[in-house]
Amino acid sequence: MRDGDHYVINGQKIWTSYAHQADWIFLLVRTGNSEKKQAGITFILVDMKTPGITVRPIISIDGCHHLNETFFDNVRVPVANLIGEEGGGWKITKFLLNNEHATTADLPTLRRLQRQLRALAAAPAAGSTLGGQPQFTQRLARYEAELEAIAVMVQRVAAMEQAGDHSPAAHALGSMLKIRGTELQQQMGQFLIESMGDYGPVSYPSSHDGHAGEPLPMQDVMQDMATEAFFRRATTIYGGTSEIQRGIIAKTKFQF
Ligand SMILES: Cc1cc2nc3c(=O)[nH]c(=O)nc-3n(C[C@H](O)[C@H](O)[C@H](O)COP(=O)(O)OP(=O)(O)OC[C@H]3O[C@@H](n4cnc5c(N)ncnc54)[C@H](O)[C@@H]3O)c2cc1C
Repeated sequence: MRDGDHYVINGQKIWTSYAHQADWIFLLVRTGNSEKKQAGITFILVDMKTPGITVRPIISIDGCHHLNETFFDNVRVPVANLIGEEGGGWKITKFLLNNEHATTADLPTLRRLQRQLRALAAAPAAGSTLGGQPQFTQRLARYEAELEAIAVMVQRVAAMEQAGDHSPAAHALGSMLKIRGTELQQQMGQFLIESMGDYGPVSYPSSHDGHAGEPLPMQDVMQDMATEAFFRRATTIYGGTSEIQRGIIAKTKFQF
């Protein structure tokens, strides 16, 4: 609601990552009712110190605090904080979402999982190595091939971004990248756990947990393995679920 040179914002948002650490938040607020549901949405920046904002922590399954529920009760925000035009927020959001889809593929994490799996392959196990077992190496090779395909897709999306290409094809490619990258993170994490056999379900502590007991097998490589795999379940949800990404791809008429 507009009140002079301020908007008065009311509402609630769950799953707000790092709201407890943020100085600012961007909000998509409804400022108009229109038949087209994407119209009438406004993009605005809000100082997190503004009165009326409450941040409630949510502790996720990995035991960490990344997530929050945020409440906005009569929060007064200067009209000067508007980005773009009133009611024009969806256009900006589409651009940001495509960037988010592409980055959640998270190539650095995939490369780290690859390094962990390779370290496991080389480590001695019952007089041999996992890398000497065809079932292990075939599965690792398949994941590595998929990873290299994703690395090429990342470059392609980055080149399209750089060329200012915001076509439906560019959006669909961002969605494809999100699906493939996040599913691969889950599969490689799961493979790490399976490959550790009986030690797979054991909670390997983080280096900063100050674990003082006997070192667990491969502790330097496998720290945080199980808690991370739990958190990675969320990758196919956050930034827009895989089902939504598949819907975007299915609706896109494009040619590469
Ligand atoms: C760890 C984590 C961090 C997050 N961080 C943030 C954040 O920082 N900021 C933020 O704004 N949000 C954040 N989110 C929210 C996230 O973007 C949403 O949870 C996600 O987009 C899914 O929306 P939803 O929860 O409303 O699910 P819903 O839309 O209610 O979907 C529920 C289920 O129905 C399916 N579904 C819904 N619609 C369709 C359809 N049309 N076709 C097929 N299937 C459908 C979905 O795929 C899903 O399986 C985060 C979520 C998580 C889990």
